[in-house]
Amino acid sequence: MTIDVPVIVVGAGPVGMTLAMDLASRGIETLVLERRPPRQAPDARCNHVSARSMEVFRRLGFADRVRAAGLPPDHAHDVVYATRFNGYELGRVRIPAARDRFDDAGYADGSWPTPEPPHRINQIYLEPQMWAHAESFERLSIRWNADVQSLSEHPDHVELTVVDRATGAASVLRARFVLGCDGTRSTVRRELGVRLVGDDGIMMSVMATITAPELAATQRLDRAWMYWILNAEMSGNVISLDGKERWIVNVFVPKDTDVEAIDFADAARRLLATDVPFTIEDQNAWTGRRLLAERFGSQRVFIAGDAAHSWLPMAGYAMNAGIADAANLAWKVAAVLDGWGGEELLASYESERRPVLEQVSTLAMNVRKGNAVPVPLEIEEPNAAGAAARERFGRYMLETDSAQFACIGLNFGYYYDGSPIIAYDGVAAPAYSLGHYTPSTVPGCRMPHAFVNGTTSLYDLLGPAYTLVRFDRTIDVAPLQRSAERTGVPLTVLDLDPANVDTHYDVALVLVRPDHHVAWRGQTVAGAAEALLDRLRGARAVQAA
Ligand SMILES: Cc1cc2nc3c(=O)[nH]c(=O)nc-3n(C[C@H](O)[C@H](O)[C@H](O)COP(=O)(O)OP(=O)(O)OC[C@H]3O[C@@H](n4cnc5c(N)ncnc54)[C@H](O)[C@@H]3O)c2cc1C
Repeated sequence: MTIDVPVIVVGAGPVGMTLAMDLASRGIETLVLERRPPRQAPDARCNHVSARSMEVFRRLGFADRVRAAGLPPDHAHDVVYATRFNGYELGRVRIPAARDRFDDAGYADGSWPTPEPPHRINQIYLEPQMWAHAESFERLSIRWNADVQSLSEHPDHVELTVVDRATGAASVLRARFVLGCDGTRSTVRRELGVRLVGDDGIMMSVMATITAPELAATQRLDRAWMYWILNAEMSGNVISLDGKERWIVNVFVPKDTDVEAIDFADAARRLLATDVPFTIEDQNAWTGRRLLAERFGSQRVFIAGDAAHSWLPMAGYAMNAGIADAANLAWKVAAVLDGWGGEELLASYESERRPVLEQVSTLAMNVRKGNAVPVPLEIEEPNAAGAAARERFGRYMLETDSAQFACIGLNFGYYYDGSPIIAYDGVAAPAYSLGHYTPSTVPGCRMPHAFVNGTTSLYDLLGPAYTLVRFDRTIDVAPLQRSAERTGVPLTVLDLDPANVDTHYDVALVLVRPDHHVAWRGQTVAGAAEALLDRLRGARAVQAA
C-alpha cells in the first residue's frame, strides 16, 4: 500500500491553512486540497482576527505580514454605534490603528497581556497572506482545483477521490490522516455521516461588498473600521475593507425574510443615508445559526473550523474558534505520526474543544440577544428629545454590547476542563466571560503571557513541543527529562528568573503544551515523572480528574 502523503487537509481557507502550516512546522508533510482555482479570493466575510489567533500566527511566523495587510496603517479600527452611516454618532469603541497597535493604552482592547493584540483584516486580504507564507514551508503543498468528492476510511489509511476541476480528471489519494477544513457544507463531514445540530436561524442579513469611491470623502462621522447602525426603521453594519472605497454593507432582516424580494440598493442607501453612487460587487444573504457537529471525527478523519461548527458573526469569533481547533489538533496529529502520541491523544481533540465551543458560541449568541433591542422612535429627531434618546441608547450599547469588540475573555479565558491529557491539581480555573479574563496557571488554561527582560515574549522562548518553565533553577527536573527521553516526548526546559519577568507566576514549575495551554504545574517533579508524561501524551486510558 503506497501512502501518498501522511496528512491531507481539505480546504485552503483560514482554518485549513493554519492547520497545514502548524503540521508542516512540526516536520509533517502535508498536502492541502482546495477546490477553488489558484489563489481565488474568498467571499468577504470575516474581519476580526483575535489576539489568540494572532499568537498562533506569530508562532507560525507570519503575524507581522498579517498586521501589515488590510486597512492602511493609520486607519482607526474604531467601532461606532450610529443611527445611520451618515447619521448621528451614538457611541464609539476606540481601537487603535495598526500603526499605534503596540502603543495602545487607553483603547478598549489596549494593554492586553499578549505580544499580539487583535487585528482587523478582511478574509479577502488574510487568505493571500496565508498562501504566500505557506510557500516558506518545505513540507507543505497546495493543490488547487482539487475537489474532494468522497472518502473511505481504512484501519491504517484514508482514501480520497479527487476531481481536478480544470481537467475533469479523477484520482485517488491515500493519506494516514484526513483533516476536513472544508467549511459549512463540508464534504468530509458528510462522508463521516455527521450532522450539524443546534439552533438554526437566529438572525438573517443581506450582505454586499460595494465599491463607493466618493463615500469616504463625504462621510460625516470620524473614520472607523465598523459602523454599527441602529435606528427605529432598520439595523445593520458598514465595514471598511480597504480604508478607501470598498465596503461591506449588512442589512439585518427578520428571520425567514424572502431576501429575493428585497431591493438591496435601496436598503443600503437608507442605511448609509447618502446618495453617492456605489456598485454592488457581490451580494448574498447569510443566516446566523449556532450549530455544532455531532462528532468531530473518527480514527483517522477529523473536522475543524466551519466544517465542525458554525455560528453567527457576533463578537467576530467563528474563524478564530476554528484557528483554535487547528492549534489544538495539529500537534496531536504530529505527535501520533512521530510515534510519541498515545492512543488517547486524538480523541482528546473533541473532548477538549467541544465544551469550549459550546461556551463561546453561547457567548456569541447572547451578544445578539443583547443588541437586538427596540430602538427609541425619536432617536433620529433633531431636537432635545432625540438628543436625550441618543445619549441614553448610546450609553446602553456601550455598556451592554461593546465587549463584543474587545472580548478579552473569548481570547484568553477559555480553558480545557476535564481533559484526559491534562494533569489537574484540584484547583478550579477562573471563570471567564466575553469581556473578562483572569490569567492563571491552573492546568488547562492558556499559559499567562509575560515579557522577559522587558521586550522578549515568553511565547517566543517556548520549545516546539512541551516546555517545562522553571522559575527556580535549584529544582531538580532530571527525572522528567529522563522520562521524556524514554517516551520520546520532545521536552525543552526553559529557566526564567522571576526578577526578569513582568508577570507573577504562583508556582515554580509550569509544563506548557505545544498549543500554549498549561498541561501540569507543581513545585517538584519528584515521583510523578513517568506517570505524568504518559498521561499528557495520551498513552494510557486515564480518568479525567
Ligand atoms: C458575515 C460574516 C462575517 C464574519 N465575520 C467573522 C469575524 O469577524 N471573525 C471570525 O472569526 N469569523 C467571522 N466569520 C466566520 C468566518 O468567515 C468563518 O468561520 C471562516 O471562514 C471559517 O474558515 P474555514 O477555513 O473553517 O472555512 P472556509 O473559510 O469556508 O473555507 C473552506 C474551504 O474549503 C474549500 N472546500 C470546500 N469543499 C471542498 C471540497 N470538497 N474539496 C476541496 N476544497 C473544498 C472551500 O473552497 C474553502 O476554500 C464571519 C462569517 C460571516 C458570514
